Amino acid sequence: MSATLPIIDSETGGLRSPLAKPGILDVPTDTLRAWLAERRQPLMRVGQIRKQILANRATTFDAMSDLPKQLRVELADAFSVLSARVERHLFAKDDTHKLVIRLGDDRMIEAVLIQDDGRATACISTQVGCGMGCVFCASGLNGVVRNLTTGELLEQLVMLRNLTDANSTNPDRAPRLTNVVVMGMGEPLANLENLLEALSIAGDKNGLGIGARHVTISTVGLPAKIRKFAESGKQYSLAVSLHAPNDELRTRIVPTNDKTGLDAILAAADEFYEKTGRQVTYEYVVLGGLNDLPQHARQLAGLLTGRKAHVNLIPWNDVEGLPYKRPQDADLQNIIDTLRKNGVSVKVRKRKGSEIDAACGQLRRKVEVETNHRDTERFPAQRDEREPKESI
Ligand code: SF4
Repeated sequence: MSATLPIIDSETGGLRSPLAKPGILDVPTDTLRAWLAERRQPLMRVGQIRKQILANRATTFDAMSDLPKQLRVELADAFSVLSARVERHLFAKDDTHKLVIRLGDDRMIEAVLIQDDGRATACISTQVGCGMGCVFCASGLNGVVRNLTTGELLEQLVMLRNLTDANSTNPDRAPRLTNVVVMGMGEPLANLENLLEALSIAGDKNGLGIGARHVTISTVGLPAKIRKFAESGKQYSLAVSLHAPNDELRTRIVPTNDKTGLDAILAAADEFYEKTGRQVTYEYVVLGGLNDLPQHARQLAGLLTGRKAHVNLIPWNDVEGLPYKRPQDADLQNIIDTLRKNGVSVKVRKRKGSEIDAACGQLRRKVEVETNHRDTERFPAQRDEREPKESI
């Protein structure tokens, strides 16, 4: 009898076509071992196959030259190396790449590769859609559809890594991924289990070799999940998307704030620092005339003074169809000066890939419309109201 091959577990809501072959990175180790045992293959083949994809850049089973020829044929009959594929690939003059990725169930996500100063940073998605509903973000417009599987998380890293030049001798261009920021579509802490598993595999020397200290996970702030994340035992960094210095304004920008509130989020972030010794970064999208007034700068300084915190200011760039404005230079400078005067470390995030820049999730929506694959029509989604409540 054949070992049963998983068709993406129902818990995640995955709706893979029954004809599609499962991506081998999503096949549980025990299942893959059983499949190999039926073919009288040693268990070490599991590690060989994964190493070929993750470390050796194999994109077909046939290219896995350390496996017997017949096994490669049978693997190709049963599985795909990657279950997802690139639907759209944009790249900018500065070597920033943006991918719209079509998953095995036809849903789409975005992933970005940023290359500078010898670093190659992958920005990956963790969910299809997002339940957090930040007002400036297209990813959350239709709510959350499902969590990405561990394999789908790894596949994004593999696709972005495959865009780096393995033979690079340019000191500005790393020959592999050096950093990961989990800041794409979705709320990462709402998919923490799969994410930690994927990052652990990615961190292995037979995986992608990305050290934990080079991984940053961003959240709108789910206090219970921040505490759980702190218990991972790894040296990952935490970034909290603050975007406003008081509850009234933050709830207007990040609606789920009404169920959590800034105090609970900051308390959980403080605990994260105490437990891990890792400084917390606070992300602040600066929306002209909305959250960049002098009183906001003072309130922000008041919140963070005395905390082991760093602030990343992200000036908004005008996006067609959205009512937010780029901040005036003087207002941005005032926030910087006020924070520094109060001893809070602050930086303005550099824009990369400006030609392909867009608000989060906009490219994916555009591609969906163009390809007539609107998630909302095929698979109606709902805003995830549960997560923040459960997480307080
Ligand atoms: S900014 Fe992030 S958390 Fe907010 S809706 Fe977009 S994807 Fe979700």
